[in-house]
Amino acid sequence: MIAPSRILSLLTERLRSAPFHLGQVRVAAGSDGRVELRHRDDAALDSAELQSFHSPNHAREIAQYDAAGEYRPLKGTPNLKRGWRMDLTGPEETRVALDIFYPAALALWAAQTDDRLRIIPLSQTLERQTGMYRYARTISPEGARELTRRRCLEGCSRRPLWSDLPSPAPGPDEIPLLCPEACSFFVAEARVVAKTEFEAKTAPPPSAGD
Ligand code: SF4
Repeated sequence: MIAPSRILSLLTERLRSAPFHLGQVRVAAGSDGRVELRHRDDAALDSAELQSFHSPNHAREIAQYDAAGEYRPLKGTPNLKRGWRMDLTGPEETRVALDIFYPAALALWAAQTDDRLRIIPLSQTLERQTGMYRYARTISPEGARELTRRRCLEGCSRRPLWSDLPSPAPGPDEIPLLCPEACSFFVAEARVVAKTEFEAKTAPPPSAGD
């Protein structure tokens, strides 16, 4: 486990070369030590055009629903709403806010920086499943790759490090958004894919009259 003080010191260091991005959040440092967060697509907007927040905990209400008012259960989904800015006092408040926007992302980045990131192979994650999710283990390799393409590479901002599919490398102005182990959403969908594959294999062949 990475010590919170280590995460804070890395973030403090990174803020010296701000602006940078974490997922869809743009982080910029002011000359007075304050830090501003806003949606990266709002980078060019005047501050007066955005709704201002002054507590890092407001990240929760910003991140909870998308622009259409739909709940965002998976915070890596690239549908963070726009139109807000957060004016924060410094690194600690920035850490709190970013941890709400992208849970554990800073700790994973710190672990990677310190060569302590443990990547769990998909087979191991699926093998560990119990109850109704045990069935996810039977997903075919091709089914798993297709699901990774759809759910992770197209539908999530995190990089699935456990997959051998290529994903875009983070740019120099980004803190990488890492995924070292398939999440519960992936496992739930793997179960559905595995069931569909099984049903397709066991369906009776069409009769001559069909
Ligand atoms: S498993 Fe896929 S969908 Fe889940 S957090 Fe990782 S990259 Fe995102």
